[in-house]
Amino acid sequence: MKAYRIERIKGGMKFTCARCAHSVSTLDFDARTGNLRTQAATAINDHAAKMHHEPLVVSPSDGQQRSWR
Ligand SMILES: [Zn+2]
Repeated sequence: MKAYRIERIKGGMKFTCARCAHSVSTLDFDARTGNLRTQAATAINDHAAKMHHEPLVVSPSDGQQRSWR
């Protein structure tokens, strides 16, 4: 089960929490620090883990993203 939904927005992608209105977008991150989609997905997963006690979920399409305990 995904902790977030992905929408295309102008200039990037928006990741919205599946459980509340919290969202992040790829525009919030700096491409120099890594893959934008990975950073945004990590941020929303981190939010879900902290705020909703969701385990982190890694989908095959998220590539190098890793779950942690
Ligand atoms: Zn949330």
